[in-house]
Amino acid sequence: MKTHVKALVVGGGAVGTSIAYHLARAGWEDVMLLERDELTSGSTWHAAGLLPYFNMSYATTHIHDYSIKYYKTLEEETGLNAGFSVVGNLRMAQSQERMNEYMLYASTAETCGVPYEWLSPAQIKERYPLVNCEDLVGAIFHPTDGYINPADVTMAMAKGARQRGVMIERKWQADAFHWTGDHWDVTCTKMVEKGGNLVPSDEQIVIHAEHVVTATGNHPQRTAKLLGIKIPAIPVEHQFIVTEPDPALVEWRKAGNPEHPVLRDADAKWYVREERGGWILGPYERNAPARFEYGVPDSFRADLFPLDLERIEEEYMSMIHRIPTSETVGLKDDFNGPICYTPDGNPLVGPAPGLRNMWLAEGFSFGITAAGGTGYYLAQLMVEGEAEIDMASLDPKRYGSWMTTEYAARKNEEAYEHVYILHHPDEERPACRPLRTAPAYDRQKALGAQFGCVNGWERPNYYGPLDAPETFDHDARSFKRGGWWQYAVNEAKAVREGVGLIDATAFTKHLVKGPGATEFLDWFTCNKLPKVGRINLTYALTSKGTTRTEYTIVRLGENEYYLVSAGAWTAYDADYLRKAAEDKAAEFGYVEIQDVTTQWGVFAIAGPKSRDVLKEIVKDADPETVLGNKRFPWLTCRDIELGMCPVRAIRVAYTGELGWELHHPIEMQNYLWDQLMAAGAKHDMKLVGGRAQNWLRQEKSYRAFGNELGRDATPLEADLPRFVDLSKEFHGKAALEETGVRSKCCTLLIDGPEDADPWGREVLYHGETRVGRLTSGGYSVAFGKSIGMGYVKPEIAVPGTRLKVKMFDQLWDAEVVEDSPYDPKNEVIRIDG
Ligand SMILES: Cc1cc2nc3c(=O)[nH]c(=O)nc-3n(C[C@H](O)[C@H](O)[C@H](O)COP(=O)(O)OP(=O)(O)OC[C@H]3O[C@@H](n4cnc5c(N)ncnc54)[C@H](O)[C@@H]3O)c2cc1C
Repeated sequence: MKTHVKALVVGGGAVGTSIAYHLARAGWEDVMLLERDELTSGSTWHAAGLLPYFNMSYATTHIHDYSIKYYKTLEEETGLNAGFSVVGNLRMAQSQERMNEYMLYASTAETCGVPYEWLSPAQIKERYPLVNCEDLVGAIFHPTDGYINPADVTMAMAKGARQRGVMIERKWQADAFHWTGDHWDVTCTKMVEKGGNLVPSDEQIVIHAEHVVTATGNHPQRTAKLLGIKIPAIPVEHQFIVTEPDPALVEWRKAGNPEHPVLRDADAKWYVREERGGWILGPYERNAPARFEYGVPDSFRADLFPLDLERIEEEYMSMIHRIPTSETVGLKDDFNGPICYTPDGNPLVGPAPGLRNMWLAEGFSFGITAAGGTGYYLAQLMVEGEAEIDMASLDPKRYGSWMTTEYAARKNEEAYEHVYILHHPDEERPACRPLRTAPAYDRQKALGAQFGCVNGWERPNYYGPLDAPETFDHDARSFKRGGWWQYAVNEAKAVREGVGLIDATAFTKHLVKGPGATEFLDWFTCNKLPKVGRINLTYALTSKGTTRTEYTIVRLGENEYYLVSAGAWTAYDADYLRKAAEDKAAEFGYVEIQDVTTQWGVFAIAGPKSRDVLKEIVKDADPETVLGNKRFPWLTCRDIELGMCPVRAIRVAYTGELGWELHHPIEMQNYLWDQLMAAGAKHDMKLVGGRAQNWLRQEKSYRAFGNELGRDATPLEADLPRFVDLSKEFHGKAALEETGVRSKCCTLLIDGPEDADPWGREVLYHGETRVGRLTSGGYSVAFGKSIGMGYVKPEIAVPGTRLKVKMFDQLWDAEVVEDSPYDPKNEVIRIDG
């Protein structure tokens, strides 16, 4: 057995096997796959094998799309039939709201070129007479997906991998990982059979691997412990049952009719497919418990849990309602296995936090569907440094060190239950909340705040009525303008016309200082560094020249900087920054990096009257001038005192109005809040939430990280040349220049439906041609219509171009407008007083 490899993939399920295959296909030699038992002996063996296209994420749609196409090629490549039944997939809707969900999904799917059709109840009945369509509103049909045999597809990928030189070693368990500084020493133990159990033998070897990928299925907690990190992947019980043959189905097939597509009654929370004349029912029921929170017991091998029929009774009855002929058929078989989940239901794919050359591929709940694409894109990330798609939404570092086992287990149970709950884009899930709260939380709640959750933090989305029932926000959700919409409109108007106060405490904040800080940051970010006391907007790039992080960078001293970045990405940003500083320490000198996110609260005050409010409480020898343009110009930072609170005030406003970010010691937050509220009362100050802020920034064409800014576009493609200083050298510069502008970000004003705005996922058309997609969407109070930002071909991203946005399956007029359609010359931001 070889002991020196380029990459060691740990785990021989569908996911690990695909990764090994794709690493070899991407050109890496010496790839080894290690499996403690037999290939497919984890969750893969008992999966139902469905390959649904449907999901609400752009990156995941690409991953699923790749898998579905790739699996169809495996037989030709390997000679092994992967058992792909391309029967299609029929997703039924019992309500118009469900159809609205499908229409939003379809618009996103279309951005990736995924084919679909709409069917009416009558058309469903005509095609599939066994299906009761009485209470259906319609359905979306995917003709090109279906189901596969999970073991067969894994074996085909394994054969393909071997053909490409991958070494597959079974009955070896990875038991310890040691990073030597330039490679991993992985201690592996030979596993042996003993009395039906799989136990470690005394035989051990150490494998020297440049890179390690863990794809350990139901064992992520053991893997996490071995690596000394946290992995919020914990399995949940998932069942499916197989019925005896249904005579009506057998009859129907005998008559020469084709196999039914995979049927999904999302409102009833199940899927059903044919299996040897009977039906497989797979419910996503309430109360499925998390398992193996602290590791898989040695006694659990390719085992199952006992069936819990009571838990799925409701779903069972609803299958009988939908397919009445199934009522009299008996149960033939059942499966209740562990299915790994993560708090948001997305797998964890990418570099492990804090570690070098260690890659995670854990937490797959649709692992058969996702295996192909995960292997492909992860191999790109490892071999080429970046993938074609932005993998950030899957990055393992989207959860920080605040995450615990209890949190992961309860959130994972929630994610499981939510597989078929309406995926409202304005949904906020309730489990494990509130958890991370800023001191002003209680005050905000008492004033009607309806909170959203960002990286565990509670952050007001909007302020609803004071006497709102507990269910207000839940009932306010919609695919159109929800019950919260008018509140956000009023808040946005208040910022444009008066003054608003926004809680931005969740921002990520880093202090970067030390002898090497200036040279390091100059190399690490693409814009000029600001002078002392000033701020700049800048970007840290990937090696491919695309955007890794957006920073507001404040220069506190010659060698001291305060970096503010998006609140959702604290661990993700910290990891990149720390690793880069470490790598460059020899060249630039020592750089100290502190994550000070939880030490500083942030309030943003914005609007034409914001200076008047601050003047009420600012303490200065000359309060009249301290906030004026001369002493406190736009894009500068000053230490000021608001009452007794020392404040690092930064003159920027994400809303595009006159305004300041007030960074303050977190323990003084309530004091500052009370001061601001009292002063604000004299000027009719309104509390404003994240939703209004998100609309306002679009009127200014301010790009948002995770929307317009990500690892699939350079800042030049984001059309931000003013923040890129090409006269200096910086990380990713050559790649940025070489990439050119493949597609370009632009702002659109949209004449959409009267009762709906785009969400920022919709497909864009130019005439009959699909030309791009929205990355943000919302409502503009300044223009009284919908607004959005998105990416299209550069020749189309020209003001005046007429485009169409697909919403609710119709095309709506949109026009590309000059950047910053509201206050294009930044006059109101700079206003003196
Ligand atoms: C009842 C049920 C039905 C499902 N149906 C579907 C479906 O229809 N479609 C779909 O897409 N998904 C489905 N799934 C989910 C799917 O089974 C999983 O997402 C998928 O199998 C995960 O693959 P994996 O490779 O990540 O993990 P696994 O298949 O669990 O493989 C992980 C492997 O890692 C090995 N391993 C762990 N630790 C070590 C170590 N230290 N050293 C060496 N080897 C190690 C294990 O032995 C195991 O073989 C279903 C799951 C269940 C429970």
